[in-house]
Amino acid sequence: MIETQEAKNIISAVISCRTLPERKTVINAINHALSEDIFSPIHMPPFRQSAMDGYALRLHEDSAYKIVGEARAGDFRSFELQAGEAVRIFTGASVPDTADTVVMQEKTSREGDRMHLPAPAARGENIRLPGEQIKKGALALRKGTLLTPAGAGYLSSLGITEAMVFRKPSVAILSTGNELFEPGAELPRGKVYESNSSMLLSALISQGFSDVSLHKVPDDYTGTAEALDGIIGEKDMVLASGGISVGDYDFVGKALRELQVTQHFYRVRQKPGKPLYFGQKGNTFLFALPGNPAAALSCFYIYVYPALQKMSGIKNFELVRSFEQSASSFVKKGDRAQFLKAFCGNGKVSLLEGQSSAMLHTFALANALAFVPAGTKKIAEGDLLEVIHLPL
Ligand code: AMP
Ligand code: MG
Repeated sequence: MIETQEAKNIISAVISCRTLPERKTVINAINHALSEDIFSPIHMPPFRQSAMDGYALRLHEDSAYKIVGEARAGDFRSFELQAGEAVRIFTGASVPDTADTVVMQEKTSREGDRMHLPAPAARGENIRLPGEQIKKGALALRKGTLLTPAGAGYLSSLGITEAMVFRKPSVAILSTGNELFEPGAELPRGKVYESNSSMLLSALISQGFSDVSLHKVPDDYTGTAEALDGIIGEKDMVLASGGISVGDYDFVGKALRELQVTQHFYRVRQKPGKPLYFGQKGNTFLFALPGNPAAALSCFYIYVYPALQKMSGIKNFELVRSFEQSASSFVKKGDRAQFLKAFCGNGKVSLLEGQSSAMLHTFALANALAFVPAGTKKIAEGDLLEVIHLPL
């Protein structure tokens, strides 16, 4: 059995990005890492742009100005302003070359074609300069950046419609268990609804993984081995759930050995998720997650998620961690590190009820996992806790 940090170190040492780049439209490139630096093809803003609704004016000594025209967003007219002349202007409009400044409408008074400034205007105000955000030819976004909605908007604002991104790894989800019953019909006695595949699939879909296959096998050695054999080599990542503990009908470990999968580690000194397994055969990586749903999802976020993000070429592949003041107290039993379902907000972290690895009820409301190190025995209100922030 290894410590949580050692497990993370092992994963980090063997996982890298080996997928090939592909070209995608900016919208489809969301959740992907850029596979090359992107440089701006234009100055942004492209021209001297008004940041306000108001008046563009050529300064003079007096506080009164003559309005000689109007500059609307989208128009491009040249005005030869003389000192003491102004044009009505709107946000986003091109500021005449001959204007010194833009005064916001609220700071003016107007009568007919005369405009008056109660307070003097400063030169250059409320004008966005060409290339103020980014200059033509400058680095817009770096290789390895995860493209977000803001990133997609930013690239579009530079006139870019497509980007080269790293292909996301393909994933197979294999759930094992005789007791598992497909949701949608009345539950027979002794069965439970199968929930790990929809949970893991939705965690993957929300991060932009689209090549995901689902497989289900009963607790049967041959079936498990055949299913795994069919997936390994076809997918970049296999996520098995269940059947990795020490029960008489846990066949995943045996099947992986028989299939000559190289074990990188098995069993981590943690709660939940002690039986976590990580291995590799050729270019396929495998995690065998515990069947208990909350344990499976905790292990997914702590270990699988960063591994998949790194395989996707994303430079910041770890989930964000921070230290937050605990709003709860907690007594830890045993000597394993513990990950607790938690809700983080307003500078505090609350530990949620129902920490059992079988329970998803409060996980459904959690936005973080709080980490209690192996050596910590209790947490008092106000203590600092390390928190792992979960993605949406
Ligand atoms: P196992 O790791 O196979 O011993 O399973 C541990 C617990 O998790 C058992 O109570 C299983 O019924 C439950 N479990 C395993 N796989 C799933 C699944 N795919 N969906 C819901 N519960 C599961
Ligand atoms: Mg099982």
